[in-house]
Formats: sequence, structure tokens, C-alpha cells
Amino acid sequence: MPLYKDQTIKIYNTLSGEKELFEPLTKGYVGMYVCGPTVYSNVHLGNVRTFMSFDMIFRYFQHLGYKVRYVRNITDAGHLEDDADRGEDKITKKARLESIEPMEIVQRYTVDFHNVLNTFNFLSPSIEPTATGHIIEQIELIQNIIDNGFAYIKNGSVYFDVHKYNKNNEYGILSKRKLEDLIHNTRALDGQSDKKNPQDFALWKRAEPTHIMRWPSPWSDGFPGWHLECTAMSTKYLGEKFDIHGGGMDLKFPHHECEIAQNQAAKGQSPVKYWMHANMLELNGSRMSKSSGNYINPAELISGDNDIMSKGYSPSVVRFFMMQASYRSVLDLTDDGLMGAEKGLHRLLDAIKTVESLKTGNTSTIDISEWQQKCYDSMNDDFNTPILIAHLFEAVKFINQIKAEKATITSADLELLKNTLNTFTFDILGLEKESKSNSGAEKLASAVQILIELRKEARLNKDFALSDKIRDELAEAGIQLNDGRDGTTFTY
Ligand code: AMP
Ligand code: ZN
Repeated sequence: MPLYKDQTIKIYNTLSGEKELFEPLTKGYVGMYVCGPTVYSNVHLGNVRTFMSFDMIFRYFQHLGYKVRYVRNITDAGHLEDDADRGEDKITKKARLESIEPMEIVQRYTVDFHNVLNTFNFLSPSIEPTATGHIIEQIELIQNIIDNGFAYIKNGSVYFDVHKYNKNNEYGILSKRKLEDLIHNTRALDGQSDKKNPQDFALWKRAEPTHIMRWPSPWSDGFPGWHLECTAMSTKYLGEKFDIHGGGMDLKFPHHECEIAQNQAAKGQSPVKYWMHANMLELNGSRMSKSSGNYINPAELISGDNDIMSKGYSPSVVRFFMMQASYRSVLDLTDDGLMGAEKGLHRLLDAIKTVESLKTGNTSTIDISEWQQKCYDSMNDDFNTPILIAHLFEAVKFINQIKAEKATITSADLELLKNTLNTFTFDILGLEKESKSNSGAEKLASAVQILIELRKEARLNKDFALSDKIRDELAEAGIQLNDGRDGTTFTY
């Protein structure tokens, strides 16, 4: 049962621009919505970083004993090319280019997304709703907004009336933009648009005759606007007011700003208590993105099959690399950085193995409870994983001192140290004991290591028949075990 439920967490809330005390709407429960991917292409590592930040946050809340309902959607319609109201639907365009059904595109890239997240040891969200599965809810929401006078219908499309909504200067409350500046910076309407003002955004778009993904509505056969989808799905599963809404920094405007406007207009209240934005992953000093071509896919990074890195890196190394930065900092993906992360991760994992065989004494020369609280404090401070990792390395230092008999620890403290290290490393940071690897050689090494351990156990149990069998049959398979002073190694 939860040990640390009463930790006091502070969260940086984009809405206030400050770290705020986290007080959930219902004690013991957390409702969290994170904008999921638009499934029209393979996810790149930038996408992975944002989802990983929220995976870590999900893990921490769960560890503390909160009952978390984590909703992360799949955008499978309505996200247009310019991230606003212009251009083709991203999924429809890909389907057209490949001459297949849009839903085949959706299926392919949803599967890819899930595979990637599994590779990086993500937990599944509690609910993963799709936009196309919630058209009825979206139509209802649009009707509410129309009824309340904040939307208008033109040629079968429905637009949100930003100017009318902004009477109380609420548009821009999240992104800190001012409508006047937006007006100043947007091009005049080209006469083709149905909008009253360029700042208005589509809630529903009438489909052109060739547009395949279309649904009947009171206004036209058409499709929902991207911003509306998230409003419908988040409030359906988390209620009209919920705790946390997250996404990448680039979604702050217009996507999240519009979500607030839609909710205010439909229900008269701002939906979210804490808005959280994860910062961008960069490559070569600029933001990783599909459209600019400046990106690297997870599989290419893991296998080493790319022109950017000197070798492949395991998913756990990549995860550790990402966790070494605060989720709110920009992070540049570099070969040096990954190499450093690889060394660091191995040092941490080695220490975690060493803990198993440490000798205990009558006193502890370090205060383990205090160290444990420092680990919690770092996470409580807006999920500061780099500081947490620094504390984990303090423990590594201490473990090595005990091993070298330069420090001592009691058995109770050793248990606490071991549990805390395991909890933060594996349960909260989501790292894995043995790095998953694509390389056959590493997989073979892991398998032989398991056999070496089994043989050691067999010998301890004086089951020499089994230990010899393991050695001889490995030899037959071309793998020689070599027993030395520091244990058994192998060659092949
Ligand atoms: P999309 O499928 O384009 O809507 O993106 C899915 C998520 O990835 C969103 O939350 C984006 O903010 C996030 N994202 C996109 N590019 C990056 C990047 N370079 N670094 C971090 N997150 C990103
Ligand atoms: Zn969204």
C-alpha cells in the first residue's frame, strides 16, 4: 500500500507561469489527459520524448498511491496540414499518396506508435480514445457552443467566433498571446474563406466531395476540427474539470488555447487545473520534426543504422539520456550525450547489482532515510529527474565505498537503500535491468549469462551433473566457459 501518498508535489503550471502546489480535484485521484499522436507517419524521437515525460509523471503518481486515470488519445482525423484550418487532412493526404484507405494509414501508424512505446518500456494509458470514435460527442459539443452564441455556421462549416469569445480578454490566457497582436500578425482573408475573422477556427468542416473521412452532422457531411477532438475526449473521460492536461510545448498555441476557449464557450468553465508542457527534443541544434526532415526514428537510433550517430544505443540508454534533462528543458540529441548516458546507466545498473552482495555492519555511515527523502524531494519539485539521478549517483558512490569497506551500512538501511534504488530506477524512471538490444551478439551474451548463473547455482547445490551438462553442451554449441578468480566468462 502507498507509503508516500502525502508527499507534497509542486507542478509548473503554464497557465500561471509558476510552480504551484498540486492539489488534486478529488483527494487520492489524478485525472490526466495528454494529446496523443496524429497517426499519419512513424513517430520520431521528439514525439517519444514528450510521451516519455508524461509516462514518468504517470509512473510517479501511481507510485505515490494515487489512482490515476491517464487518457492519451489517438488523432485519426481532422488534423490539417498547417495545424490549423488550411491544407489537406494529414492522414487523408498520406492515404491518397499511397492509394490506400485512410484507415489503413491509421492502423499502420497506430501499430508503429505502440511498438515504439513498448520498445521504450512505456506503461499503457488507462484509456486511449480515438477521435473518429467520438464524433457524436463532438457534434454535441459544437451544438452547445452554437447555442451559447460563440460559433457560427457558414456553408456547412462551423467556426468558433474568437472575437466574440474574447470580450473578457480570455483568448490567449494560456499562451500569453493577445488577440490584437494576432490580428496584426495574420494575413487578411483572401476572400475565399468562410470565416468572419482569420483568428476564428473550425469546429466542423464541410467535406469536399472527394474527402473520404466524413460523417453526417446537422450542418453538413464533414469532419471535426482537431482542437475540438481533444476537448470532447478529455472531458468525456475525465469530467468537465480535471487535474492535468499535457502535451508538447508546440501545442500550447493554438491547440490548447482553443481547447480552453471551447470549454469556456460550451460549459462556462476552464477545463484544466494544471497545464503542463514538455519541451522539445532537438537534433543538430534545431527542433526535431518530420516536416523539416530534421529527425531520427527510434529504430534507426537503436540499430545504429543512421548517418548521425557513431553506433546504436539501447532503448534504456535513450530513456536514461532523456531523463537526465528536466522535461521542461530543451534537449539536444547528440552522440556524446548518448555515450555519456550509456556509461552512466551502466554505472548505475552495476551498483544496483552490487547492492545484492554488500556486507552489513552495526552502524550506517550515511543517513539512508534522509537520502531517500532527497530522491522524493527532487521528484516533488516538478518532477526534476536530473536532480533525482544525481541523488541516485550519490548512492552509487556510497555503495562502492561500502564494497571497498570504506563505509558501513546496517541491514535495515541496506534494505531501504536497495528498495529505494530499485523503485526510482525501474518503477519511476522506467529503466530496464538488462538493456534491450537489437544486436544478436548482445542477446547471445545475455542468454549465456543466464546459463552461467544457473550453472553457478547448480554447483552451489552440488548438482555437478547439471553444471557439467551446461558447460559441455555450451561447448558443443561452440561456446567455451572459462572459470576464473572473478567469476566465469565465455568465448566463442
Ligand atoms: P503530433 O503527432 O505531431 O501531434 O505530435 C505528438 C506529440 O509530440 C505532441 O505532443 C508534440 O508536441 C510532440 N512533439 C513533436 N515534435 C517534438 C519534438 N521535437 N520534441 C518533443 N516533442 C515533440
Ligand atoms: Zn490535443
